[in-house]
Amino acid sequence: MQELKNIVLFLMDMDGTLYLENELIPGARDFIYRLIEKKKNYVFITNNSSVNKNNYFEKLKRLDIPCKEKNLFSSGMATGTFLKTQRKGRKVYLVGTKALEEELLKYGVELVEEGAEIVLVGYDRELTYKKLEKACYFLDEGAEFLATNADYLFPLKRGRFLPDCASICMMLTKATGKHPVFIGKPNRYMVDLLREKHGLSKHQVAIIGDRLYTDVACGKNAGITSILVLSGETKVNDLKAATEKPDYVFPSLKEIIEYIQ
Ligand SMILES: [Mg+2]
Repeated sequence: MQELKNIVLFLMDMDGTLYLENELIPGARDFIYRLIEKKKNYVFITNNSSVNKNNYFEKLKRLDIPCKEKNLFSSGMATGTFLKTQRKGRKVYLVGTKALEEELLKYGVELVEEGAEIVLVGYDRELTYKKLEKACYFLDEGAEFLATNADYLFPLKRGRFLPDCASICMMLTKATGKHPVFIGKPNRYMVDLLREKHGLSKHQVAIIGDRLYTDVACGKNAGITSILVLSGETKVNDLKAATEKPDYVFPSLKEIIEYIQ
């Protein structure tokens, strides 16, 4: 537990870690206030690319979780950064929500309906067959295949779920034989961007999340400390079966509070 004392930046998952749908997980608020009290930095990083930042600011405010502009980073924002810096000027066809479209426009991304060089898929809760048809066409014509996040399921309460970005991608992969590159977790890209922004070394940053294949894998890929909480998707048996183990496991955020010194 000694190592946890050295962490100055906590990258926090939200769904299944901080809250489930509209309810805070018990102890989550106390954990965040402990970070503030001990002058630690935290950034909520979410793979959810379907809603805009204001939805999060409003939701977190409602839950009494302090969150400023600097405390939030989504796979949509990471994708905007990636397109702006590494695919500058490319024409992008988006399979995503209106909110993601607005986010990408802020990064100067050129979104097109014809002649796309990149097909970008998000967690599209406004998906239509027409969008799939166009995405297939562009991919078949040779467009690059990018996606915001590698989640198959979006968790709801009582074990229910919705199909997420990777499930939509699977349809396109089956149809075209092409596989996407996912920008969000478990890709280390979001962690690297935030670590550089804060000017920190790997041993000063930790990621906390409820999923092995996105949150913990992301921590492993980026070479930072990984902390799994069992308040969301991952159950004890999943953890036993996992080949890559997190550095730390806690029932929920509540049990980590005493180690934040
Ligand atoms: Mg989660």
